[in-house]
Amino acid sequence: MRCLPLTTNVPYGYVKDPENPRRWVVDPVSADVVKRIFSMCMEGRGPKQIANQLKADKVLTPSAYRALQGIKTPNKKPEDPYDWHSSTIVAILERREYTGCTVNFKTYTNSIWDKKQRETPIEKQAIFPNTHERIIEDAVFEKVQEIRQQRHRMTRTGRSSIFSGLVYCSDCGSKMNYGSSNNGDPAQDFFDCSLHRKDKEKCKGHFIRVKVLERVVLKHIQAVTGYILRHEAHFRAVMEEQLRLESSEQIRIRRKQLERNENRIAELKRLFIRIYEDNASGRLSDERFDMLSLTYETEQKQLEAECITLRQEIEVQERQNENIEKFIQTAHRYVGIDELDGYALRELVSAIYVDAPDKSSGKRVQHIHIKYEGLGFIPLNELMKEETA
Ligand SMILES: [Zn+2]
Repeated sequence: MRCLPLTTNVPYGYVKDPENPRRWVVDPVSADVVKRIFSMCMEGRGPKQIANQLKADKVLTPSAYRALQGIKTPNKKPEDPYDWHSSTIVAILERREYTGCTVNFKTYTNSIWDKKQRETPIEKQAIFPNTHERIIEDAVFEKVQEIRQQRHRMTRTGRSSIFSGLVYCSDCGSKMNYGSSNNGDPAQDFFDCSLHRKDKEKCKGHFIRVKVLERVVLKHIQAVTGYILRHEAHFRAVMEEQLRLESSEQIRIRRKQLERNENRIAELKRLFIRIYEDNASGRLSDERFDMLSLTYETEQKQLEAECITLRQEIEVQERQNENIEKFIQTAHRYVGIDELDGYALRELVSAIYVDAPDKSSGKRVQHIHIKYEGLGFIPLNELMKEETA
C-alpha cells in the first residue's frame, strides 16, 4: 500500500510537488534552514539561542517565507518577518517527517480518560518510511530528540557549553552542571557534581574545568579515531565481543522491566473501568472518582513513558553490530580532528564520567571515562598496549 501524507499543511522545508500536489518535494532554501537548526541543536544550543541566531542572521520565519511565496497560511502576516520563537524551533526539531517518513494519527482522543486531544505515544503513530526525500539523517534526528530531553543550562553569563547534558559524576551518578566563575572569565568555566551543589557534604571533589575537559576528551577522541584507522578489523572484533557480553544481560533485565510495566498498565486500565462503573452506579462519589482516576492516569503515563525508553534501549542494543559499523564510519570522518565542536562531540560521545581526583601519587590526577555513541566504553589503554607489545 502506498501511503500519502494526510497532513494538508506541508512542513517548512518542503513544497507541494507541482506534478502531484499530494506529494512533498524538498524546497532547497528552507530545507537549508531546517538543516542549520538541527546542526545548531547538535552543537548544544537551546531553542532560544537558535531562534536568536536566526533572527540576528535575518532569516525569514516559516510564515514570512510562505507569505513571500504567496502560499496561504492560517496565521496572519507577522509584524517582524525575522522574529523566530523558540516554540517554532522546538516544533521543527520534533518533526519526524524531516527524515523522509510520513507520520499519521498524530493526535487522538482517548475517550475513556478524557476528551482532550493529546499527542499520540510514538508506538501508536503510524510511521511510513521513504514517502518523500529526507532532509535530516535518522541518526541526527534521534540524537536531537535525546538532547531535547536533557535540559539546557546557561550560566548567568549567558554562555552554554558543548558538554552540557553529557557530563556525569562517576561516584554518585548525578549530572554535572555547567557553571562560570564570578568574574565571568570563560577560562574559569567548570562542571561540578549537581549533588555537591545541593549539599556540600554529600559528594565532593569532582569539580573540573571546561578547558581540562576539552583537552582530555579531544585527546581521547584523537587516539580512538587514530586507532581505528590503523586497526579497524581488530577494533571491530574487540568491540563486538565486548558488546555481546554486556548487552545480553542488559537486554534480559530491560525485557523483564518492560513486562512488569505492561502488566501494571493493564491492571490500571482494569482498575479504572471498575471505578468508572462504581461511580456510575453511585457506589463511588464524584470526588473520589476524580482523585482516583487522576492517580491512575499519572501512574499510567509515567509507566508508558518508561516503556518507550525501554523499547528504544532494547532496540539499540539488538542492533549492536550496526552500531559498531556506524561508529567506525563516523570515526573515519573525524580522523585528525584538532578542535572539538558540539556536533562532533554528540556524533561520537554519549556520556562523560568524571572521577574524583586521585592524589595518591602526590600529584592531583583526575580520570574521566568516555562512553562512545552506540558502543559504550572503549578499552583504549588495553588496545594501545597490545599495539606496542
Ligand atoms: Zn557526585
